[in-house]
Amino acid sequence: MAIERVIDTTLHDDDSEESAVEFSLRPTNFEEYIGQKRLKTNLKLAIDAAKKRGDVLDHILLYGPPGLGKTTMAGVIAHEMGANFRATSAPSIEKAGDLASILTNLADGDVLFIDEIHRLRRAVEEILYSAMEDYKLDIVIGKGTGAHSVRLDLPRFTLIGATTQTGSLAAPLRDRFGHNFRLEYYAPTDIKSIIERSANILDTQIKPEAASLLAERSRLTPRIANRLLKRVRDYADVNGDGIIDVPTTEAALKLLEIDELGLDPADRNMLNLMIEKYGNRPVGLNTIAALTGDETSTIEDYYEPYLMQLGMIQRTPKGRVVTELARKHLGKA
Ligand code: ADP
Repeated sequence: MAIERVIDTTLHDDDSEESAVEFSLRPTNFEEYIGQKRLKTNLKLAIDAAKKRGDVLDHILLYGPPGLGKTTMAGVIAHEMGANFRATSAPSIEKAGDLASILTNLADGDVLFIDEIHRLRRAVEEILYSAMEDYKLDIVIGKGTGAHSVRLDLPRFTLIGATTQTGSLAAPLRDRFGHNFRLEYYAPTDIKSIIERSANILDTQIKPEAASLLAERSRLTPRIANRLLKRVRDYADVNGDGIIDVPTTEAALKLLEIDELGLDPADRNMLNLMIEKYGNRPVGLNTIAALTGDETSTIEDYYEPYLMQLGMIQRTPKGRVVTELARKHLGKA
């Protein structure tokens, strides 16, 4: 059985991204979007150039681990372009016809956001090629000998694709994006600013030292920072006067079993199992998934990126290896 994670970057039922609170925390313009300086500089340039030419923005691929702000940035881009924002995700587009209907319903200049774009089915993905390149939609009408294909004009739109795994994106699709940006993990000071901004929106008082402490435990990821903030706020409301200070934060994090590097029981469990069963030897992705009871994509998207960022896991051609740093952290050096 996989361990349920409080710092999971996927959505939880109780605080779905669509909920009013989540919505209010989401930055809507460049000023509110904290950090990712390089990305913002490049995007501002592209947006200004497109506006000056009176043209639509070239298609954009945003790449990076979950919770770093890809969806948020896509919304910001649409806002800055003064364009409509239409969001969908690849797993929800089942047939080529579903995508065809999304595309034909777009208006000139719209921004279409497709989350998890590496998960598009092949037949659906192929529709995108001519749509992205020539703003044309090729559809087949009829069946058997009577079948013939027609080419429809589409409005000029901007596709923003988000993916956690650029490696799994087919080359013809990847090549059709004019811009390809990687989102970086945030600096702890940026995470602290995000926490303070969110606390302000949530009308919660947080002491600066408590915000720093929380920032250190948030895996350098805005979504986790916001989630932890909400949990600590609950703790402060129930066990104190609602003001978040260092002792409250420490107590809440202890309850959540989040250690000083932001690792949770699920991370430690995975590392411990790898050390116990395989020692210094590399472990294949499928084996790790079998050990923890998770999907391989969960290991790749939610466990590995941050553990690799910390230098606790290394990828080798033969599999993943737990490093000395991780052993020391777990007291198994
Ligand atoms: P992704 O699409 O990469 O999984 P999201 O865009 O859904 O991530 O971001 C998760 C949450 O983190 C958002 O709801 C938003 O509140 C917050 N967030 C993300 N990036 C930023 C940022 N740069 N500044 C402030 N808050 C952010």
